[in-house]
Amino acid sequence: MVCPFCNADDTAVIDSRRNTEGSSIRRRRKCPKCNSRFTTYEKTEIELIVEKRSGNLEEFQIEKLEKGIKNAFGGQDITEKQLKSFVDNICNEIKGNRKKVKSDFIGEKVLKHLKEFNEVAYLRYASVYKDFSDASDFEKEVAEFN
Ligand SMILES: [Zn+2]
Repeated sequence: MVCPFCNADDTAVIDSRRNTEGSSIRRRRKCPKCNSRFTTYEKTEIELIVEKRSGNLEEFQIEKLEKGIKNAFGGQDITEKQLKSFVDNICNEIKGNRKKVKSDFIGEKVLKHLKEFNEVAYLRYASVYKDFSDASDFEKEVAEFN
């Protein structure tokens, strides 16, 4: 961590303290060059946890969601800008004040929005999302989409 006072490259940690939940760590640092002290915070960046059908948990990744939706449009009928705002709308709805969602919940939200926006993309997404010969196929597809 660079010193904010003299821009020295390396500073030493002189004290570390976890908050009660263990979700963040506060560190006191000291610069060996100018002797200034300052505080840094470290915390996890996971905004939302997705629970898959298998029960496995993973971090929500907007890139995956965007890719799945983009594929549903097959490169047609939607501009990059439209896609961005479309994905943002869905994300806001998915996140709300939640910390954890099921992958099915995400799939259903995407389908609901696609249905209002573009019939062809909706059908394409639905055919991938809903036609599964067995549970392992389902897992593969959901992995693509959420
Ligand atoms: Zn310094």
